[in-house]
Amino acid sequence: MVFPNLFLLIIFTSFLSLHNAPFWAAADNLSLPASLAGKLRDDPQTISLASTDYGRIIQENPIGVFFPVTGNDIAFFIWVMYAGPIRLDIAARGQGHSVRGQALARNGVVMNMTSLANSRQGGGRIVVKTTSSLGPYADVGGEQLWIDVLHETMRKGFSPVSWTDYLHITVGGTLSNAGISGQTFRFGPQISNVYELDVVTGKGESLTCSPTTNPELFYAVLGGLGQFGVITRARIALAPTPTRVKWVRMLYTNFSAFTSDQELLISNKGNEKSNGLNFVEGLLLLQLHTPDNSSFYPLADQPKIASLVSQYGIVYVLEVVKYYDQHSASSVDQELNELLGELKFEEGLKFVRDASYEQFLDRVHTDEVALRSLGLWDVPHPWLNLFIPKSRIADFELGVFRGIIQKRNITSGVFLVYPMLKNKWDERTSAVIPDEDMFYTAGILFSSGFKDWETFEGHNKDILKFCAEAGIKVKQYLPHYETQQDWMNHFGRKWPTFLRRKAMFDPKKLLSPGQKIFSTSK
Ligand code: FAD
Repeated sequence: MVFPNLFLLIIFTSFLSLHNAPFWAAADNLSLPASLAGKLRDDPQTISLASTDYGRIIQENPIGVFFPVTGNDIAFFIWVMYAGPIRLDIAARGQGHSVRGQALARNGVVMNMTSLANSRQGGGRIVVKTTSSLGPYADVGGEQLWIDVLHETMRKGFSPVSWTDYLHITVGGTLSNAGISGQTFRFGPQISNVYELDVVTGKGESLTCSPTTNPELFYAVLGGLGQFGVITRARIALAPTPTRVKWVRMLYTNFSAFTSDQELLISNKGNEKSNGLNFVEGLLLLQLHTPDNSSFYPLADQPKIASLVSQYGIVYVLEVVKYYDQHSASSVDQELNELLGELKFEEGLKFVRDASYEQFLDRVHTDEVALRSLGLWDVPHPWLNLFIPKSRIADFELGVFRGIIQKRNITSGVFLVYPMLKNKWDERTSAVIPDEDMFYTAGILFSSGFKDWETFEGHNKDILKFCAEAGIKVKQYLPHYETQQDWMNHFGRKWPTFLRRKAMFDPKKLLSPGQKIFSTSK
């Protein structure tokens, strides 16, 4: 809908009265309709909370934080910024678990999405439908946490199929990126498992979109880094939920054996039609302090593992999971043995845990609780996430894992590496991946303190420099760039589409300024 200039004032006034805002009220220096002004806060504590994120590297103060109660509040607020005399940038903020200021708005307004969910555990904003022509699905508020989606859907015997490693982040936040984890090879990222969205565009229009209704908006928003609209509802695909998992780690000293086994598992046996694995990831083991009672590894095996780590510098851990329930409990062990039978991990170094499905999915929260108790959760997070073409993963290992991480004696942090398949990603979305049928993700999640994060930023820069010089065409996931040229390189052939969609859905470039795509720092 476009508002012709002549009628703008009339429509604007009607919109105000529709929202019970018949007069302008003062909210500090802003003249906002009263119904909005009451939901805008600018006290120092609120500003301070909205001025940084999980990364704790970037600090940008907004002039206010908007606390919407309904989707209409969001639409009205954006529309006022779009059509009215005041123009302020607006950043939807889910959990603020970005690490480079992506949900910040310097001198703009942060929209606190979680105020839509008056109470946790759904608050009526997670509605499960177990039968439909689409199959089972959940209609979920964009502000909802995935952990709450898990609980609410499991109560009905279903759950989403594609996850992130950490579930205390919002549906809108992960769908604005992609949402990846060990299930991605099989079901695609979270953005491949959405049937429909409700979105408020940068013009303040509330639109429902799907592959058949407003498809341009639908695909723009998925992986769209918050640039095209605010997601207020997502229809998420569900499947019957498992209840338990067999959770396996296998250790490798040879990177080539490790990656060829990962590739074997995701191509031949991980096919969704077969009774294959449900989760395939991998991580680097750079130290093991023995004895470690909290470790995945039995105490009796720890000295051997520790000596392998000191001998090889890096031990690669292939992590896989097979789901099961009461019907498949008697056959799961045999199926697992068949699936893992040909693998070339170090003899005897396969470890199996039995866990509930929820325990497994919410595993990072267990680490969160432990880190919080040590004061190590709310610290800077100089993290770098990359997608690497399969053809160059061996070069990446030599240059980055061996060349930078091992040579510089970096042993603390979490370092993930696992493959995915391009055909599980929809080319029409805004998400960007390498141009090869199979590619890897590397999560380089350095552990830093308040004083030394810049050292780790230095390592990150060196990693990117190494890739550029070696001609490894990596794509950043959860990207962060300093210049628009970098963004153009990132999007590559998708850049013209990205620009066109921006002009269609957020022509005044109001939304998610913290991504620094249209207001770069250089
Ligand atoms: P925010 O940081 O609040 O927002 C991110 C961006 O999305 C901002 O630009 C914001 O403006 C925009 N946005 C937020 N809500 C909406 C909305 N409703 N509509 C439109 N735009 C919106 N990611 C993975 O894919 N896989 C992982 O395994 C994974 N593990 C993680 C583990 C940890 C410990 C952490 C901290 C992050 C992890 N992430 C992972 C990254 C995470 O998915 C993203 O940072 C995600 O954006 C976090 O969601 P959020 O709600 O905190 O978003």
